[in-house]
Amino acid sequence: MSGTFVGMPSFPRAAKEAVHNKTLRGNLRHATHTIRDKRAKAVAELADWAELREAGKQIKDHTLRHLDRYLLQLEERVTAAGGTVHWAADADEANRIVADLVKATGESEVVKVKSMATQEIGLNEALEAEGIAAYETDLAELIVQLGDDRPSHILVPAIHRNRAEIRDIFRTKMADWGRAAPDGLTDIPADLAEAARLHLREKFLRAKVGVSGANFMVAETGTLVVFESEGNGRMCLTLPETLISVVGIEKVVPSWRDLEVFLQTLPRSSTAERMNPYTSTWTGTADGDGPKTFHLVLLDNGRTGTLADEVGRQALRCIRCSACLNVCPVYERAGGHAYGSVYPGPIGAILSPQLRGTQSEIDASLPYASSLCGACYEVCPVAIDIPEVLVHLRERVAGQGGKGHRLEKAAMKAAGWVLDHPGVLGAGERAASKTRRLHPSKLPGAGAWTRSRELPEMPAEPFRDWWKKNRKPKPDGTSKPDGKKS
Ligand code: SF4
Repeated sequence: MSGTFVGMPSFPRAAKEAVHNKTLRGNLRHATHTIRDKRAKAVAELADWAELREAGKQIKDHTLRHLDRYLLQLEERVTAAGGTVHWAADADEANRIVADLVKATGESEVVKVKSMATQEIGLNEALEAEGIAAYETDLAELIVQLGDDRPSHILVPAIHRNRAEIRDIFRTKMADWGRAAPDGLTDIPADLAEAARLHLREKFLRAKVGVSGANFMVAETGTLVVFESEGNGRMCLTLPETLISVVGIEKVVPSWRDLEVFLQTLPRSSTAERMNPYTSTWTGTADGDGPKTFHLVLLDNGRTGTLADEVGRQALRCIRCSACLNVCPVYERAGGHAYGSVYPGPIGAILSPQLRGTQSEIDASLPYASSLCGACYEVCPVAIDIPEVLVHLRERVAGQGGKGHRLEKAAMKAAGWVLDHPGVLGAGERAASKTRRLHPSKLPGAGAWTRSRELPEMPAEPFRDWWKKNRKPKPDGTSKPDGKKS
């Protein structure tokens, strides 16, 4: 399987394959239900959850409104603390900057902290093209990388794999990437974790360059923050001599005070933990402590375009907790790969088409990858109204034209004309009632829609005729009772 999402088929086609994979559906159902139940309990413990959610929304909205100011402040503080800031307009520019920085160190390998931004720009593939090996160190990302697979969940990228599959991947692939899996490796979680630990330890101790993303960037001090659960991030952020962080520009928050909110909402929403296990922060460089060189690559890649859209910009509030994925009935059945992006599930359905545009087949189909049930909005810790953005993006896609859209437009125009002419409407209703025995039970030409739905039965008499007979107001202003003759 390819490591990238380029040229993916539309969501319905990709999802159709996925829903027939029973193992995948079983794995997803078990994992999403477990996480969602735990999250609900963790959130219910906080009496002020609604206030925290509102605070998170307002902090993000305020920052996005003044993004230019906060980004410049961040740049100034990072520079003052000994770091170097680079600005990347798109994926190509960001990849080129990182590749050049790694090459300048003379190294040909890097260790990576799990990072959505670097997956979004395809950094691993870009580095590979330059002869640089990028090793993922998050356990789930390691499974994805060794399995030549793609991530299918924001937080649990290998959610589609069960323990037996992971054991097989470790047994067959670990040796190709470094230290082999221990002989007789079982699928007991502790054994799998130990195998990964031994394999990764070798890389942590050897690597001279680390690459990370960040969950937040604090403008007032130029500090970057990473939340993680395994400690691998701490190793990547402290051991290498050079650290390169690639971060989307929307990840900035004004102050440390603002972090107080997200330190509570993010762990509970993502892993259902009261407190995050490893929260690493770093500000530029410090003598004798951590990397000697620090580079921050600030990534746009479609974010300023998204910011310009009044409805769609709320997607930039996302803190990547993945709560919306775990409650989504569509994601649970289709799995993450069908979304054709590193951002799967409800947030992916609104973020990818905005970051990448709606021209490709997959991106034009994503706003329709939802039943609009609203469960995603209910759980979102920054109150992103995902259904609102989905409908907004559907309008955008429909506005692009296409055969389906032209037919729909013609049908709406014809319906508008008939509804404007009551005589024609009445005659049509009567004709339809008289010929009702001849009507098909399925709509011709709409097989996919009517395969599991029957057309409603036509009444023997049109409603308007029935009304005239039974409810027509009498001269005294009263009307006939239902079904009775006066
Ligand atoms: S949209 Fe909301 S619920 Fe979904 S990942 Fe982002 S912050 Fe979490």
